[in-house]
Amino acid sequence: MRFEYDPENIFAKILRGEIPNKTVLETEHSLAFEDISAQAPVHVLLIPKGAYVSYDHFARDASDAEILDFNRAMAKICETVGVEDGFRAITNARRDGVQEVPHFHLHILAGRPLGRMLE
Ligand code: C5P
Repeated sequence: MRFEYDPENIFAKILRGEIPNKTVLETEHSLAFEDISAQAPVHVLLIPKGAYVSYDHFARDASDAEILDFNRAMAKICETVGVEDGFRAITNARRDGVQEVPHFHLHILAGRPLGRMLE
C-alpha cells in the first residue's frame, strides 16, 4: 500500500500551530486535543506528530519510539480525563471508514453510555 500524506490537512495545520486547539496532552511524538465537535462529554483526539495518514500507515512505518510514545500518551489521557466507567477508542480509515481528516487520529470517547457499535 502506498500512503500519500497531504501536508495541508487540518491536523497538520494544528501541529504547525497555524490553527488553535485545546490541548489535553503533548509528548515528544504525540499530541492530544479536544474534538471541536464533541460526540460525548469526553472526546479527545490523539494524533502522532509524524506524517501518517491512517492507523495502518502508522503501525507499519512509525518508529518504535513513536509507537510507544503514542500508546503511553493514550494511557496518560485515560488517567487524566477520567474513564473509570469505560471508554471507546476508535479510528476511521479512508473512504469506507469515513475518514474525514487524512492524518491518523484516535478518537477517545467517554462520559456517557456509548451504545453498541457492532451487532
Ligand atoms: O475520524 P474522522 O476523520 O471522521 O474525524 C475527524 C474529527 O476531527 C471529527 O470528529 C471532527 O469533529 C474533528 N475535527 C476537529 N478539529 C478540526 C476539524 C475536525 O476536532 N479543526
